[in-house]
Amino acid sequence: MTLPKAAILAIGSELTAGRTIDTNSGWLAKELAALGITCVLQIACPDDMDLMVQSLDVVTKHADLVIVTGGLGPTADDFTRDAVAKFAGVELELDQGSLDRIRDIFERLGRAMPDTNQSQAMFPVGSEVLFNDQGTAPGFVVTHNQSSIMVAPGVPREMKAMYSKQMLPRLRALIGGDSYHIAQRVLRTCAVSESKLDRMLAGVEEHDVEVAFAVKEAEGTIMLTYTARGEDKESTEARVDAAVVDSERRLGSLICARGTQSLPERVIELLQAKGQEVAIVEGESGGRLSSFFTNHQGSEAVLKKALILIGPERQAPFLGTNVPDTLKDRALALARKIRDQEQVAYGIAVIGPGPEPEGNMTLAVVGPKDEVVKERGSSILVQQARNRFLTLAAAYALDATRRMLEENTDR
Ligand code: AMP
Ligand code: MG
Repeated sequence: MTLPKAAILAIGSELTAGRTIDTNSGWLAKELAALGITCVLQIACPDDMDLMVQSLDVVTKHADLVIVTGGLGPTADDFTRDAVAKFAGVELELDQGSLDRIRDIFERLGRAMPDTNQSQAMFPVGSEVLFNDQGTAPGFVVTHNQSSIMVAPGVPREMKAMYSKQMLPRLRALIGGDSYHIAQRVLRTCAVSESKLDRMLAGVEEHDVEVAFAVKEAEGTIMLTYTARGEDKESTEARVDAAVVDSERRLGSLICARGTQSLPERVIELLQAKGQEVAIVEGESGGRLSSFFTNHQGSEAVLKKALILIGPERQAPFLGTNVPDTLKDRALALARKIRDQEQVAYGIAVIGPGPEPEGNMTLAVVGPKDEVVKERGSSILVQQARNRFLTLAAAYALDATRRMLEENTDR
């Protein structure tokens, strides 16, 4: 069985002008990927008849399945249906059932249907109407040049409902129902560059598995998604498992979380399992490390205290001694002090960035058995926006804690 190739055409001048971000295409591509259908092309096209027809020509040349969103509104700048009819070389015809339904929606709102809404009941001859339970504009499916063109409204809520309720069952039937299996696994890493990961994982796809990297800026991690596709469930699952086992062997403790779990959730889980707590001192990262904890349920049980003390002048009174000269010694002293003062198992300090242009961040984790202190700085990091830099500093501190917790766990 061969799966169809898909393309997505997003219509609207607001998209090409940058006033609205095209979220529909990404959402649809991801949904299609979950079915095993690859999206080979995406085009954003303004409300322009010639460009729409040309875009339809391009996407249908590359894909057996085209999903179009947008331009189904009642106003003069919405004419996707006209463009599709022109492209397919057919007229538009009225669908009485759709017109009755649209009129009905207005009646229930206690209003008369404006004449302009009649256009929403017009479809290219030969198309199948797709019911819209979220708004007035129905969608439709029409086949031309061996490509199936499915059209949905642009409003994301309406598009999503139409995809799930109308398009998905049709796509499932098209690709043969449940006969096709997709197995997916997720691993996360922290504090390792994409290029290094790429080198370490070279050849893993030889398990006949696709490996995708995604940098998750907000959490300072890289998400690795392993996907295997096949007709037989057992062998597909076995392939993706083999690729994950192989990756785990290569990456070892660089893996910070698995599946749906995030790095903070992993740390909270490890602490809860041991009945231990942490306390934190943060400098310039200003609460980012603490909020990694407080964003998740269960943090109340494991985060005993978090202080924000920016700069040596404010850290000196807390330390009660002279501030050590180097950033490493200072981070260690802060982590030890908060651990001892709060009588918790782990003290974490993250301070930084240091003075530009070198800019570095320093983190220390002191646990029941070990202490680590790391300075991380690079020209690449300094060039990044401050917010991203500080988030990474917090994520690295969290990851160092995770490693220490795992090392101190008897597995
Ligand atoms: P339309 O179906 O062209 O009338 O679109 C209605 C509204 O949906 C637009 O004003 C946009 O705000 C939104 N919209 C249309 N296309 C997209 C898209 N590709 N991604 C996100 N929002 C969209
Ligand atoms: Mg529009």
